[in-house]
Amino acid sequence: MSEDDVTVPVVCPACDTETEVALSQLETTIARHNDNRHDGEAIAEVDPAIKDHIAELVADDLELLG
Ligand SMILES: [Zn+2]
Repeated sequence: MSEDDVTVPVVCPACDTETEVALSQLETTIARHNDNRHDGEAIAEVDPAIKDHIAELVADDLELLG
């Protein structure tokens, strides 16, 4: 399984949306959404239910998961 093929759900409670985003686009997509819709506030995020699992997948690339 390639990391490029993995998609993860990104949820935005403020917009009431859930979007499947490719892992390679994850940080860009979340940052863009929050910049465009929420003045840079970190509202959209990886679905908390799977955050721990994603953290394992992308242990080297965790800045946005904090
Ligand atoms: Zn939003």
